[in-house]
Amino acid sequence: MEEPRFESPAAIGHAVIISSSSREAALHTARSLAMAAVCLRGHDVPCGVCRGCRKAASGSHPDIIPVVRPTDKNGNPRRELTVDQVRELAADAQVLPNEAERKVYIIEEAELMNLNAQNAALKLLEEPPATVVFLLCAVNPGLLLETVRSRCLMMTVAGGNEAADEESLKLADGFLTALRSGDRIRLYRWLSKNELSKTDQTAAFIDAALDRTVDMLCGRASPGKLTPEQQMQLHRLLLQCSDYLKANVNPKHIFSLLASGIPE
Ligand SMILES: [Zn+2]
Repeated sequence: MEEPRFESPAAIGHAVIISSSSREAALHTARSLAMAAVCLRGHDVPCGVCRGCRKAASGSHPDIIPVVRPTDKNGNPRRELTVDQVRELAADAQVLPNEAERKVYIIEEAELMNLNAQNAALKLLEEPPATVVFLLCAVNPGLLLETVRSRCLMMTVAGGNEAADEESLKLADGFLTALRSGDRIRLYRWLSKNELSKTDQTAAFIDAALDRTVDMLCGRASPGKLTPEQQMQLHRLLLQCSDYLKANVNPKHIFSLLASGIPE
């Protein structure tokens, strides 16, 4: 049987909100997704050596377009992203990519779009051209209109200063290895053997697993037997666990949720 291929970022659709407490971490993820989108080899992970990947890494790929705040006459960035910028982007999005199969727009501070800009963006998100991907980085995604958010996939990335400790990363890797094997018995065994009882440890493990899942979605790590759809389900499940832990749900329940909620 053929290994399922990770067709990044077709799997993630046309628009993703990358939310993080760290602007840098969100941008880093956006750039990885963009690289995967323009890689000419189209493997599980960006190959890192093709012309597409090299240009993406050096920031010179013509189909990866950063969208940043305009500057005033003194060169200082203005407070907002404007409707004119979004209209310009919309016009540009109708033009086919130069080299890659897709054009990727990285909106670096998406929540700084003012209301008019967001409404213009909404129109674009309702009927996106087939050859574009919009990556909306946001430190405060709550500032985006609900209608905009509902059109996008939400991806949450840990901030740089919340880097996972070694123990949590080891656990996350063990969990994902069991999961990627596609063997449910192996997964149940792993979960019962490694069940944690402390909320803070469980939260650190879930955060580390979220990080690793984002790595898979970005093409930075192999997804094993997980289809793109399953990776997204996993990402949603882990976010749910993270929310439950914040609401003081017992870690025991978190582990049974992981056991029952893993996509087939
Ligand atoms: Zn490549």
